[in-house]
Amino acid sequence: MQRRTFLKSAGAGLGVSAAALAPNVFADGPAIKWHLASSFPKSLDIIYGAAEVLANRLSSLTDGKFQLRVHAGGELVPGLQVLDAVQNGTVDCGHSASYYYVGKNMAFAFDCALPFGLTARQQNAWMYSGGGLKLMRELFKQYNIIQFPGGNTGGQMGGWFRKEIKSLADLKGLKMRIPGVGGQIMAKLGVVPQTLAGGDIYPSLERGAIDAAEWVGPYDDEKLGFHKIAQHYYYPGWWEGGPQLSFYVNIKKWNTLPDAYKAAFECACTEANVKMLADYDFKNPQALMRLIKQGAKLHAFPKDVMLAARKAAFALYEEEAKKNPSFAKIYKEWKAFRDMENQWFKVAEASYTNFLYYSK
Ligand code: CA
Repeated sequence: MQRRTFLKSAGAGLGVSAAALAPNVFADGPAIKWHLASSFPKSLDIIYGAAEVLANRLSSLTDGKFQLRVHAGGELVPGLQVLDAVQNGTVDCGHSASYYYVGKNMAFAFDCALPFGLTARQQNAWMYSGGGLKLMRELFKQYNIIQFPGGNTGGQMGGWFRKEIKSLADLKGLKMRIPGVGGQIMAKLGVVPQTLAGGDIYPSLERGAIDAAEWVGPYDDEKLGFHKIAQHYYYPGWWEGGPQLSFYVNIKKWNTLPDAYKAAFECACTEANVKMLADYDFKNPQALMRLIKQGAKLHAFPKDVMLAARKAAFALYEEEAKKNPSFAKIYKEWKAFRDMENQWFKVAEASYTNFLYYSK
């Protein structure tokens, strides 16, 4: 009886303090409207949609006081200039893939993906718990930006090839749409890499101007219809084992926010980060089954291709580390983290999933 009375009065006391004494920081706070420039077209609905997840949650967490207007790639600024636009304050914030900016500094790739790098889970572990976010923020600060993990596609596919690849020799002279560091490594294997925007890939592949193209994974690839013109569908996309997207905020704009608004923004980014991977993990298997029904032929990359690509990748990183101090600093920590993670993941995770997937 005594206990019930105590709980009742304690509950009432909490009710009073929460409702009447604590100020509602959002009701009394400023109304903020920001513009977000996305690098992505609306057709990449899961990736583009992460910015909508952020905007919607931010609004609901702040009683509508903090509004984000999301603009698709090209609406305010070209998709590949989002970092520049946030840096200059042309827009308040953005959503992009940091490896688009390796031309400024190859170290930006650590914020997204490097070939033979981290899986999506390892990327989150590095960012949130392993010191990665802090390290990457030192780099972004030089560009007037604070950034937050903003989604992950999970491991991508290796793309669509018009002809089967039976060994490393079959890559010689092959024209493939593969941008970024993955393209640089493919070039070392004899491929002629091409950088083409999403909308230009299908026509180029159809008329034979290119022999192969990588995009994302089954769910996004299906929409572009590559399976109709290049049926050999390769895996894994070793250049994107768990690429992370990022939200960028101009640091001066960030510093004007009240603390509660910052907390709401960070919280909504984390939700968008989790949700994107969940959406891909849900939709990719269904799309893969449909693609196979329509004639896609699945192949693993030959082992000699994988081994040569990994060797070329780490040779490239060592080379870059010699001439780029910020790359060298992050690479050292990232590499040690990666090697340690892989020692652990091969014990419990890999033995469990290998048994589930392959044992009869
Ligand atoms: Ca890709």
